[in-house]
Amino acid sequence: MAEQVSLRTKAQPRRAANSGANAKPVRSGTAAAKSGFGKKTIALVYDFDGTLSPRPMQEYTFLPKIGEDPKAFWRECNRIAREQEADPLITYMHLMYQKAKARNVRIDRDDLVALGRDVELFPGVEAWFGEIAKYIGIRAESQGVELRHYLISSGLVEIIEGTRIRPHFHNVFASEYWFEAYDLPYPKRVITDTGKTQYLFRINKGIENLGQSINEHMPEGARPIPFGNMIYFGDGDTDVPSMAVMRKNGGHAIAVHTPGKSKTKCIDLFRAGRCDFFAPADYTRGSELFRRTTLLIDRILANIRLEEEAWRLRRTIDR
Ligand SMILES: [Mg+2]
Repeated sequence: MAEQVSLRTKAQPRRAANSGANAKPVRSGTAAAKSGFGKKTIALVYDFDGTLSPRPMQEYTFLPKIGEDPKAFWRECNRIAREQEADPLITYMHLMYQKAKARNVRIDRDDLVALGRDVELFPGVEAWFGEIAKYIGIRAESQGVELRHYLISSGLVEIIEGTRIRPHFHNVFASEYWFEAYDLPYPKRVITDTGKTQYLFRINKGIENLGQSINEHMPEGARPIPFGNMIYFGDGDTDVPSMAVMRKNGGHAIAVHTPGKSKTKCIDLFRAGRCDFFAPADYTRGSELFRRTTLLIDRILANIRLEEEAWRLRRTIDR
């Protein structure tokens, strides 16, 4: 685990306080798992924009700060990306700073982190992590099950770092800038829709150090978090590759929509078999989302017990 953070903490010591793998697991039971059946970690993996937060994170503070109307800004991004056949995410990351520079607004890493404080979250999100931990705690008390939350977002690492929920995540994979590398902050890592799937495999294989290649073959048996122990939460088309990877590998997916707003996209995803369930993005205990998520968790917990029993049985005959 220490290995996972070494790169980041060395490069950016400021982050060490709440850096991913340092974040304490909501429940710890890994010590028991070390010598026994090792696949008892459940991973809940979230998209951010539209899934945990109603709007793209840049709209709350970054765009207003540089005097941009969000609709006009995204329209311009999409137009440039289309005309130039450029990647839309690189285009937005570049355009934000180009515009800030043109208006003489200086935005550095600390400013971006500070902007994260004003990002709005869907109802119940802040209490969700504790409530899910409680739910699993009651049902898996003696089983040594560990719960982890992960974020995979095309948005910005720095803004997410400033949000109140950052400490709940075991790790955050998001797009990131390289500050002071060039004239303008330069995209250091861009997480596209399909690129997101790489991070699902990183969680699955336990290779969270981004300096380490993910492509080397690892037999299923050696992967610490099977897809079957994972649930992915997303809100739309940009989550289709991730949902497809999850479902094809025996994992689970839930689609959410803004409460009270159209659920057409969710219905499409559900009908196309992209997700197990969909629900309004209300994370309050007892909500439809809570109930459907815990149904999947019940199944994961039962499966862990089955797998562990089979593992024990195999050990007795292999001796
Ligand atoms: Mg989204």
